Amino acid sequence: MSATTAANLRHDWTLHEVKALFEQPFNDLLFQAQTVHRAHFDQNRVQVSTLLSIKTGACPEDCKYCPQSGHYNTGLEKEKLLEVQKVLEAAAEAKAIGSTRFCMGAAWKHPSAKDMPYVLKMVEGVKALGLETCMTLGKLDKEQTQALAAAGLDYYNHNLDTSPEFYGNIITTRTYADRLETLAYVRDSGMKICSGGILGMGESLDDRAGLLIQLANLPEHPESVPINMLVKVKGTPLADEQDVDPFDFIRMLAVARIMMPQSHVRLSAGREAMNEQMQALAFFAGANSIFYGEKLLTTANPQANQDMQLFARLGIKPEEREEHADEVHQAAIEQALVEQRDFKLFYNAAV
Ligand code: SF4
Repeated sequence: MSATTAANLRHDWTLHEVKALFEQPFNDLLFQAQTVHRAHFDQNRVQVSTLLSIKTGACPEDCKYCPQSGHYNTGLEKEKLLEVQKVLEAAAEAKAIGSTRFCMGAAWKHPSAKDMPYVLKMVEGVKALGLETCMTLGKLDKEQTQALAAAGLDYYNHNLDTSPEFYGNIITTRTYADRLETLAYVRDSGMKICSGGILGMGESLDDRAGLLIQLANLPEHPESVPINMLVKVKGTPLADEQDVDPFDFIRMLAVARIMMPQSHVRLSAGREAMNEQMQALAFFAGANSIFYGEKLLTTANPQANQDMQLFARLGIKPEEREEHADEVHQAAIEQALVEQRDFKLFYNAAV
């Protein structure tokens, strides 16, 4: 761990500076990112989270990339809020195969008063299993945020998605200011923030830089920064967008690592479409968090055992929560992960 303190982190990035980072020769950028990464993290550890959709589809928001939006017909089957017991079973299974954080996502504009008691019970139950808890439920008001924090929620995910300038091309039912307000409530409540964005929606380099500037120039950096590659789903307005150049995606991870040196940068949605070489390059650029499990909300995600085989080939180990960091436990988890051949553990909310 580095001696860098929160006070040394920068919150005053300019567009000019960030574009200069992006425009460096690729090898220079990666060298810089890897140097920053090594100063702040164990370069051979990657944090592993599992994501479960606790309520799928029929979302009133119109995010143009999202198969869960009720505005588009993607053939996705809707699901009501899962029972608390089912969520806890999935969390226990995630823990058994080595996840340290359990993320629960609901396709809502915001949680309703009727749903909040169930959501709070899920947080308490998952926490009691010894997992870190994360939720993504849409916009929150102050009281809801405080209730989630009191129930033991560790992280709240709320992505900014893209730059403020490009945002209106992608979402019209919720404002950028709404998103920033939710992030401010989360920070005030003492929870950690998970917030990032998506590449491949037709945005420019300025927009990619603009997103990272918004995140890094928050009063505190988000602890977790998911960088997603658009998963093009038939029926959504972005289904026919052009592919992102893989090297441009790696550049985004590297610039995020340099700007937010103490944050976990998550290689997130879209990983299924990335070959092993690209994933290895992503880890070299400073990505140090992934999701695993059969589904990443509603889109395919590489199987956990494939991930562990790749980790083994690269000499990467899953990052452990400190209280579980004894070597015997670690070895047992890794063995179980590698031996995992045919698991069907996760409740698939999309079918
Ligand atoms: S991204 Fe979230 S808020 Fe937007 S449509 Fe999908 S589920 Fe709803």
